[in-house]
Amino acid sequence: MTRSMARSGVKAGVKGGGAHHGTVNNDGRRVPRGKAAGTPRVTLIPGDGVGPEVIGAAVKVIEAVGVKIDWDQQLAGAIALRRFGSPVPDRLIDSLKSTKVALKGPLETRVGEGYRSINVYLRKLFDLYANVRPVRTQAGVHTPFRGVDIIVIRENTEDLYAGIEHQVAPGVVESVKIITARASTRIARFAFEYARTNHRRLVTAIHKANIMKLSDGLFLKCAQRVARDYRDIEYKEQIVDAACMRLVTDPQAFDVLLLENLYGDIVSDLCAGLVGGLGFVPGANYGKHGAIFETVHGTAPDIAGKGIANPVAAIKTGALLLDYLGHGSAGDRIRAAVNAVLRAGRVVTPDIGGKAGTTDMTAAVIRALK
Ligand code: ATP
Repeated sequence: MTRSMARSGVKAGVKGGGAHHGTVNNDGRRVPRGKAAGTPRVTLIPGDGVGPEVIGAAVKVIEAVGVKIDWDQQLAGAIALRRFGSPVPDRLIDSLKSTKVALKGPLETRVGEGYRSINVYLRKLFDLYANVRPVRTQAGVHTPFRGVDIIVIRENTEDLYAGIEHQVAPGVVESVKIITARASTRIARFAFEYARTNHRRLVTAIHKANIMKLSDGLFLKCAQRVARDYRDIEYKEQIVDAACMRLVTDPQAFDVLLLENLYGDIVSDLCAGLVGGLGFVPGANYGKHGAIFETVHGTAPDIAGKGIANPVAAIKTGALLLDYLGHGSAGDRIRAAVNAVLRAGRVVTPDIGGKAGTTDMTAAVIRALK
């Protein structure tokens, strides 16, 4: 991305990172990109569950496309907890502070017990406020839905993810939903800048302001205010439950979605379902001073270690990283190779009805690189 986009929030500029000036890319659509210079240093976090399998695939494809990256591999999550006694060891934080950019596998988050989500912790620590997930129909992947082309933009730093929960009395607990004008305004501005830069026509804010009048009401007010600065882009609002129904009955009615943190999490998975599942959707978390690239899917413990995880989401996440680092044409070559393998449908993983393993599908993507 360009420096002006950085100021407006679309570019996640890497302050002090020197050479890293990539572009937010619409998963294949051409946009102006930054220039690459030197060998960038990137923190590599293989993660838990299927993480090492799919992140390993992404790294292989990046190597094969010819982009040199100085990877600083770090452990995090359950494996770091076992090895170093902390799911977020100091050496990981030091690495991120120095590189300001990471390619990261999913990290285990225990439900209802243990440490809080490391994914959320890292996003908050580095103020990576904008989560971007491009969801597009893939030729060769059969789903009941056609022509899906949606960009999910999710606020990453507050909402119920603030993690403020307490017991009021035995049997009564409270979770606090934090929504601020500052965070709502900057994510709305990010969404509109993204839309403008990527030639998108419409931003739809998703909310439940009919029930949460204060919190979601504030989110909407901020979005409405920002929308006035972008007359070239249509702005709509939709209540989250109705939006979910419309997404499955008429997904083409949507373009860029603007969501708070929790709705963003849930609606992302719904959107992934429209294009064949979680194995396909890449993701990036952008802040003013850095970015972490990670898939929408989690650790997939049910298939971890079996060598059958779909590597597409991770490989496409790697392509987003290359865009960001100023290697947009290499990112495009990767996306084209993935699309060719999926279209051919011969060497694909079981989640798409194939029989190939992660390694074979990755090798097929590398063979398809032009
Ligand atoms: P976590 O707690 O880490 O979020 P989860 O199992 O709750 O783990 P996901 O990891 O997102 O959530 O997985 C949800 C479902 O999607 C699982 O059935 C999983 O096998 C499937 N899935 C996720 N990622 C992939 C992938 N890369 N390839 C194939 N299937 C996947």
